Formats: sequence, C-alpha cells, structure tokens
Amino acid sequence: MFQDILRRFLHSRGLRVLQVMNLTDVDDRIIQKAAQAGTSIREYTEKYIEAFLQDMGALNLEMPEEIVRATDHIQDMVDLIERLQKKGLTYPSEGSIYYRIAKFPDYGKLSKINVSGMKAGARVDNDLYEKDDARDFALWKAPKPGEHFWETRIGPGRPGWHIECAAMAMKYLGETLDIHTGGVDLTFPHHENEIAESEAATGRPFANMWMHAEHLVVDGEKMSKSLGNFFTLRDLFLKGTKPSTIRYLLLSVPYRRQLNFTGDSLRQAESSVERLRNFVTRLKTEKFGTGSSAQIEKLTDKAEADFDAGLADDLNTAFSLAAVFDLVREANTAMDRGEFLQQDAPRVVAAMEKFDAILAVLVDNDAEKLANVGFAPKKPRMPGEQIEALIEERNTAKKRRDFKRSDEIRQQLAESDIILEDSKDGTVRWKYK
Ligand SMILES: [Zn+2]
Repeated sequence: MFQDILRRFLHSRGLRVLQVMNLTDVDDRIIQKAAQAGTSIREYTEKYIEAFLQDMGALNLEMPEEIVRATDHIQDMVDLIERLQKKGLTYPSEGSIYYRIAKFPDYGKLSKINVSGMKAGARVDNDLYEKDDARDFALWKAPKPGEHFWETRIGPGRPGWHIECAAMAMKYLGETLDIHTGGVDLTFPHHENEIAESEAATGRPFANMWMHAEHLVVDGEKMSKSLGNFFTLRDLFLKGTKPSTIRYLLLSVPYRRQLNFTGDSLRQAESSVERLRNFVTRLKTEKFGTGSSAQIEKLTDKAEADFDAGLADDLNTAFSLAAVFDLVREANTAMDRGEFLQQDAPRVVAAMEKFDAILAVLVDNDAEKLANVGFAPKKPRMPGEQIEALIEERNTAKKRRDFKRSDEIRQQLAESDIILEDSKDGTVRWKYK
C-alpha cells in the first residue's frame, strides 16, 4: 500500500515511474515444499502469485510496470556472482559460494550494524539469520539431495536470496536505483547484503534512497499464527469487510509508523470512506444557490496545498487526510447554512477527484472487487438507470398523491438493498446498502 501511495504521489508530481516488483519464487522453503508436494517450483508458486496479484487488484493497487520472477533470472544472478568472483570477494566452501564481507569496507552502512566483533570467515547458509549477527553469506548454494537445482557455469545449485534482488533490480533499473523500498525487517541482513553485492560489483551506489515501511500489529501485538491473530485479506472479506475499508485503513497511517490493526480502526476507516463518498454525492446532487463563494475557493486551495505538502513530507498521509476532512467538514457546514453556491460544487468535486487519484476509495466498486476475488454478491445489483427511473416514477406518484404506488416503489428499492434519502430541497439521493 505504501508503494502504491508513493507511485501515485510521484505521478501526481508529473514524474514518470518505472516500478519493478520482484517475486521471490525460489528460496529454501519454497524448494523444500515443492519437493514435498512433488511438483515443480513453478507449479508450486503459481497459485500464490495469482492470489497475490488478485489481492493487489482488490485493494486498488496499481500494477508495477515490471513484475519479475527470480526463477527467470538465474543467468543474471550467475553473471553477477562471476563479477564478484573476479574481484576476489567470494570464496567456495562445500559446493557453495560465499561473500567475504571483510572485503567490503562499507558493509553495515545502511543498517549501522557493528561488524567489528565479527569473526572472519564466520558464515551462514540460511537466507534469514539472526539480527545483529553479521556473517559471510551464501551467494550460491550447493544442491540438496532430492531438491531442485540449476546446472550453471559456477556449478550446480541454487541462488541465495540476496543475489536475486540485486541482479534483478540492476537488470531493469540500471546500476543505481532512484528508490529502493521494502519492509523495515529487511534492512539487515537482506538490504545490507544487496548493497554489498551490487556496489562491490559496480563501484557505484546501489540506491539513492531507501524507504522502509514499518510493520502492522494486531491489537498491539505482532501478527502471528500462534497468537491466533493472524488473518489474510480474504479472511477479512469473508467477515464482510469491504476492500475500500482496508485500503483506507492501510493508507491512513504513514508508512514509517506502526499501524495498530483493530476492529475499531476498521469501523472508523469504513465510516471515513462513507463520509467521503456521501460528500461527493451531496456535491453532485444537491441544488445550491447561484454564484460562488470566495471562502470556499480559499478552503479548497488550502486543502489541495496541504494534501500535497503532507505527501511531500515523506508520505505523511495522516496530514494529507486531515486536510481532506477539514474541507469536507467546512463545506458541509457551508451547505447546511446555504453559504455553499452552485459554482463551488465543480471546484470542490475536482479537488476531491485530485485527492482520489492517490486515495482511490471514492468509487463505490467494493462489490465488483470482491467478486473478482471470488466473493460473489448475494444477488445481482439493480443497475443505476433502473433505480433512477423508479425514483422518477415515485416522485410523479407522490405528486399525484398516489401514496400506494410510491410506497411500493420504496419497498421494492429497499428489498434490492438500495437506500433512499429525501433531502430538504426535495431531491432524492440513493446508494447501495
Ligand atoms: Zn529483496
């Protein structure tokens, strides 16, 4: 979600974005599980990749320009390892190839890890090792009996995790990336090792900027299967949570702050989205007096400037959202007082659309999003034109005092999960339940 906000913000500033997302479709566990299941790595990972991409769609995440798989880039990894071999940064041991971190003086610069106490030659095979424990790491791993391996120029085996990212990132983005993103837990050892691999090979900075997202916690605790507070996006959908609610909740907390995921925060997110959608409906349907208000123009300009300033401040989405809700509150008050005028409406609608180019929660397409991940709505929705026609008919029935017919129509719409709101000025607004 944080990466989506980042790319949408860069777009809003007129920048061209080339985002590359890698799918780590090979690591120790995947190889092991695929072997246990008696399937190929490709087959084993396919269903997860598909579900992941579907989930991205459900949350309205824009697709990166490139989505690349590690297993399609084994040769690029071998090439990079050979470059490191030629520079004397590696050593072989029992069929594996290790990176000698003592040969890279900058080791530790990203995570500020202290390498002084490190025993030379202490090495580790696991992709994930202890925090604060710097060791030589495997670039290439010897095959294990019964498990998949690749036959290559540097010998049979499989790639270490860190080399996958370094090789793929440089292939698609060049030797120096503008921005490298990731979870805060990846700073060490993963990103530290990516730097060691790439910078030692190229002699250039690997990334000009690193952005690390904090973790999400559930009711103040780390999400884990053993605590019973572990759930997937689809578990939430099953419980009736709307995709837009989750999107809003995830984006509402700036990426560098820990997000505490609770039932309460979900309910609040849902009502915030409702509030934004109702506001836009009101702007588009209510009748206002002629003219325009200098006050509303000023408020709108300020909201737009603050929204942008928040995002420009290291993606401070909380600040940006506060600006949006200030505008919503003030404009609603002005409408209630009759101080909001006809020509203000398109101006404020345009501002809301600008905000939504980044927030992406205004369009009420939750049912469709859910259907795309296999949660079909209970009954097909009545199309908008049909609803409008029935409302029209109800209005004329009311005018000729045919209350039996107008009640029938209200009933029919209610049964189709459509909520009607009669407003003071006589217009009728509707929405799906
Ligand atoms: Zn990585």
